[in-house]
Amino acid sequence: QGDSADFDEEVASVCPFCGVGCQVSLKVKDGKVKYVEGLNGPANEGRLCVKGRFGFDYIHHPHRLTKPLIRRDDAPAKGLNVDPGDLLTHFREASWDEALDAAAKGLQDISGQGVAGFGSAKCTNEEAYLFQKLIRQGFGHNNVDHCTRLCHASSVFALVENVGSGAVTATFNEIENADVAIVIGCNPLENHPVAATYFKQFTQRGGKLIVMDPRAHGLSRFATHTLQFKPGADVAMLNAIMATIVEEGLYDQQYIDAYTENWEAEKTHLANFKPEDMAEHCGIDADTLRAVARDFAGAKAGMIFWGMGVSQHIHGTDNSRCLISLALMCGQVGRPGTGLHPLRGQNNVQGASDAGLIPMFLPDYQDVTDPEVRSHFADMWGDAIAAEKGLTVTEILDAVHAGRIKGMYILGENPAMSDPDVDHARAALAKLDHLVVQDIFLTETANYADVVLPAAAFYEKAGTVTNTNRQVQIARAAVPAPGEAREDWRITTDLANRLGLQWDYTHPSQVFAEMKLGMPSLNNITWDRLEAEGAVTYPCPAPDHPGEAVVFGDGFPRPEGRAKFTPAAIIAPDEAVDDDFPMVMTTGRQLEHWHTGSMTRRASVLDAVEPEANCSLHPRTLRKLGLSPGQDIRLISRRGEITIMARADRAIAEGMVFVPFAFVEAAANILTNPALDPFGKIPEFKFAAVRVEPA
Ligand code: SF4
Repeated sequence: QGDSADFDEEVASVCPFCGVGCQVSLKVKDGKVKYVEGLNGPANEGRLCVKGRFGFDYIHHPHRLTKPLIRRDDAPAKGLNVDPGDLLTHFREASWDEALDAAAKGLQDISGQGVAGFGSAKCTNEEAYLFQKLIRQGFGHNNVDHCTRLCHASSVFALVENVGSGAVTATFNEIENADVAIVIGCNPLENHPVAATYFKQFTQRGGKLIVMDPRAHGLSRFATHTLQFKPGADVAMLNAIMATIVEEGLYDQQYIDAYTENWEAEKTHLANFKPEDMAEHCGIDADTLRAVARDFAGAKAGMIFWGMGVSQHIHGTDNSRCLISLALMCGQVGRPGTGLHPLRGQNNVQGASDAGLIPMFLPDYQDVTDPEVRSHFADMWGDAIAAEKGLTVTEILDAVHAGRIKGMYILGENPAMSDPDVDHARAALAKLDHLVVQDIFLTETANYADVVLPAAAFYEKAGTVTNTNRQVQIARAAVPAPGEAREDWRITTDLANRLGLQWDYTHPSQVFAEMKLGMPSLNNITWDRLEAEGAVTYPCPAPDHPGEAVVFGDGFPRPEGRAKFTPAAIIAPDEAVDDDFPMVMTTGRQLEHWHTGSMTRRASVLDAVEPEANCSLHPRTLRKLGLSPGQDIRLISRRGEITIMARADRAIAEGMVFVPFAFVEAAANILTNPALDPFGKIPEFKFAAVRVEPA
């Protein structure tokens, strides 16, 4: 931090990392961001975590892409083999015209169903909208997806199915009006640190916090109960809690009668899940399950927060269905201090999903198979829209292996690090006839590209983003992009015009205005309002209203206004531990590192704090295996192996290992299981059977 003498200019924007969406003030001098302070945004009220405050200087890193690149004719075979300091062995520099022509021609030559696109949850709403429009309008199909498929797709499926909308029913700040909160399958102290400050304050004024997670974490210190259940036993545990509520008559019959359907089926189903019968299965004693049930059902106002520990399972949709049913049976939706809140991961994963970066939905989750919906967008865009749902992220890579997809346009995503069984994903990328990658660094995915388009970083462009709270916020350019790098919306527009579309956008505000024509969620939210107010929450009932923090107080956007109970049965994880692979590996993020590490590992402070690939095991597990903290170990799954430094952590259950997925030199996803949840099509990142050996 410094004083006003240390900077020439202050620019208000939004943190580019997590879905909390903290507003920031960027202090700029000589065209560079010097330091960052928190602004009084609706989600952060001046607070920032270590990433937001210190993780900004990646934008000035010497590895930034500054010129378009085309793969050389004499380049070595495609692989994860490009040294960022020696790009020109593999690529040659090109003008924008030449690179865009090559990108467009390569994709057009394949065209039709043979092309797919991955957009980004790190770009703005306008950029997400244009990306899905380009794939749909330019190639005539819906093979467009993004990282929501790897994060909360199962939560969104269950929410749309049972309450009629995929977004949160209440902002996380509503916890100040709650008296009980469940936090399950997420580690907010590391993944949503500013949201975690509100959770801690809630406990300081007497709120009861119930933490449920196979991997205990820092928030447990503030919890009334911590349920460290067995990995994969979520449905058994949640059904046992709900069974107690039924058995002891703690449910809210009036609410159930007024606002829900299918209650009798749920009630009958739950009779099979008595806590005493489920205790061993889920590793939590019956008394604790009953105590938690009484606390939540007895609350005047209760909230449920969840993360990818819930969603990244083959039964991720069932996990979310249970959480929705738990809230509904207790009438804990639609009032201050109540609600369902899947904590969204990336800074704009909510907005990118809203904007239609999903193969089965046009913007605002409008079903692409609905002729009326298609006709509305066809009128807007001037081209017919394909009726068939597109392929999802993992299905697209399978289709590459099957020879059905031959070309891809990837904007700001890094499947060569982020996909499950990542060697399979890397082999798919190597197999493509034509790959166009648009990014700020030569990511692991860009190693496989035929054309690389250099993009502006978040603090170098303007646009809107939508956080986990449904708050649409405005981001502003603080510094120029380096070299010839350009904003993503501009590059996508230039590419579209080379594909024969006639797009004439010259500013993101024009794109936002077009989005409003097809997205009722943006009613009463305008670019000018966002410029003036910084943030407006959707839904927003009037031009002078700040937007609704809590929704569904008077019914749900479903038939007859009723939410639905969907009973969930126990489904075992896809693979079992056995003598060869006796331990369970789970993956996730660390406080200092963001996703595949392309930004945070180039942020000097964050890299200095956490420079080395590491994994965590309980000290007793290490002792049993004859291993010591700090030692390199081998982790071996049915799909591959990595060598990584071991740490001792009492929060990890015995028999488990936690591996962050930010480190390319020990890529956790070499080990993960690609088995999918059948509804959300999300892979089972949270359960892989592994063996641990000394390196
Ligand atoms: Fe950025 Fe999230 Fe940290 Fe806020 S909590 S500063 S949005 S990373």
